[in-house]
Amino acid sequence: MSFLLVWDDKKGVFVDFDALREYMVRTQLIPRGIKDERVLSAMKKVPRHLFVNESMQHRAYDDMALSIGEGQTISQPYMVAVMTELLELKGNEKVLEIGTGSGYQGAILAELSKEVYTVERIASLAKRSEDKFASLGYMNIYIKVGDGTLGWQEESPFDRIIITAGAPKIPDPLIEQLSEGGILIAPVGDRFSQILLKINKTAGKLSEEHHTPCVFVPLIGTHGWKGEDPASSQ
Ligand code: SAH
Repeated sequence: MSFLLVWDDKKGVFVDFDALREYMVRTQLIPRGIKDERVLSAMKKVPRHLFVNESMQHRAYDDMALSIGEGQTISQPYMVAVMTELLELKGNEKVLEIGTGSGYQGAILAELSKEVYTVERIASLAKRSEDKFASLGYMNIYIKVGDGTLGWQEESPFDRIIITAGAPKIPDPLIEQLSEGGILIAPVGDRFSQILLKINKTAGKLSEEHHTPCVFVPLIGTHGWKGEDPASSQ
């Protein structure tokens, strides 16, 4: 199902986005094993359709990634849920996100943690997300334009770090900016397919778990891929 039309005597026909969101959680997230109740309620609450272009709104709750312009994408709802669940957020964390994109993942994180710092390399996307955060009343998200592979030194350390673009390896500055006891989630692999990695930093040592295969747009920067051109090497 890609939309749910409702008749209202005053409004006429409209798409019931709240119902679509419920349906998304019930059919895409719970059956695939998302269990964290806080993650499920954030996904039921955040209006994903407001993070995509108006012409795409009726597709916002479909089981897929969607284009957000500038050659970038908003991740599939399930992928957002998996990554968020792996972060094990309890509500008091300082979180760093690399790759703001549409701002949707950032808003989900803001619902579940204390503060979110998010970095986007494309200024027009950052501006759009910043406006969105303001119009939706998020006061705990800080955004900057720049190369997220360098992290956000002045605000470090971070309890949690999430990279939402495909990386050739975990950027060293991000490992350094992760707190003791912290968790970092990132898709790592080649330019066209990756594995979701979960890194735990305990007593200065890193442990690594491999999770689901995935496909993200490339992480481009000093400690990422070198350019937009897929033929260019790392
Ligand atoms: N979290 C986003 C998904 C965005 S797609 C969402 O919820 O919509 C990945 C984003 O990472 C793109 O917007 C891309 O421009 C950005 N990106 C790629 N390399 C980056 C880098 N080095 N620093 C910051 N952002 C980067």
